[in-house]
Amino acid sequence: MVPDSCILNILDMKITDIFKTQPRTYSFEFFPPKDEIAAVDFGINTGQLLKLTPSFVSVTYGAGGSTQERTFALVDFLQNKIGLNTMAHYTCVNSHRDKVAADLDYLTKMGIDNLMLMRGDPPKGQGEFIPSPDGFAYASELIAFAKQRFEICVGGAAYPEKHPEALSLGADLENLKKKVDAGVDFLLTQLFFMNNHYFDFVSAAHAKGISCRIIPGIIPITSFGQIKRFGAMSGAEVPEELIHHMEPYQDNPAKIYQIGMDYAIRQCRDLLVMGAPGIHFYTLNKSRATVEIFETLLK
Ligand SMILES: Cc1cc2nc3c(=O)[nH]c(=O)nc-3n(C[C@H](O)[C@H](O)[C@H](O)COP(=O)(O)OP(=O)(O)OC[C@H]3O[C@@H](n4cnc5c(N)ncnc54)[C@H](O)[C@@H]3O)c2cc1C
Repeated sequence: MVPDSCILNILDMKITDIFKTQPRTYSFEFFPPKDEIAAVDFGINTGQLLKLTPSFVSVTYGAGGSTQERTFALVDFLQNKIGLNTMAHYTCVNSHRDKVAADLDYLTKMGIDNLMLMRGDPPKGQGEFIPSPDGFAYASELIAFAKQRFEICVGGAAYPEKHPEALSLGADLENLKKKVDAGVDFLLTQLFFMNNHYFDFVSAAHAKGISCRIIPGIIPITSFGQIKRFGAMSGAEVPEELIHHMEPYQDNPAKIYQIGMDYAIRQCRDLLVMGAPGIHFYTLNKSRATVEIFETLLK
């Protein structure tokens, strides 16, 4: 199968413009490296990933805005020095309207027209999200504010197995519809391991009148410890079959890696065959697994 986004990238396009020529997009998510050593590792890994000519890349925004400076510096580098279509993640945790307006002004003047706008998680130790004075309670409010002021393309977060705070998937979908109506141009999903959750979610979203692309977010499991960690982090169901298959090989990292990769390749292939509009890879700043999935899908 040939991923149809594998054509040369054109600098500085809105992701919605990329959609016009790419029925499926392949994108990579990075986080800002934390120190010099991590930056060297990042350079080596992204060098490998960029050979795959992704449709776009994105850079996360640390919890509570903790990486703001490094996120902004990295999106500037990737967009303006490397020449990639780059999306900056941004949340409104601890931010009032003037700060949000100033940050988005800074990013758009830098040439960043693609923004993944989210509410963000409550700061550690704070059970529930409390909006800043003169801030935003939900991503939909942030998105409406940003869309009124800036000519930007906006991605929003979607949760096939429901956002952890939502009372039900139905209630979460109602809120998702409000977010899309506020100006979301496309949705990227939380990671998941069982495609039925994704396809059920997409059908339910369509039934609610959500018609933008819902791009699945995928993370390959490459070590045994990740099984519990990824599940706990995201609330995603990890298939029993995969756990049972990996359990006997806990002391054999190479075998665990192979099992995880086989699973991820099958998952990605099935998503594409069943009509998903591409794949967003949570790369964790590593290249090997994503490159292997790509090479297999291209065969
Ligand atoms: C693809 C992806 C990338 C991410 N990247 C980052 C990142 O870089 N940095 C980071 O800090 N976090 C990131 N996150 C995590 C995200 O910030 C958290 O999941 C956060 O808790 C919710 O953000 P949101 O924008 O989805 O919130 P919202 O859409 O505001 O939803 C939050 C909760 O409020 C509910 N809700 C929404 N609107 C209403 C309403 N009008 N009335 C009542 N309830 C409502 C929703 O159902 C949900 O339970 C990412 C998540 C995804 C899926």
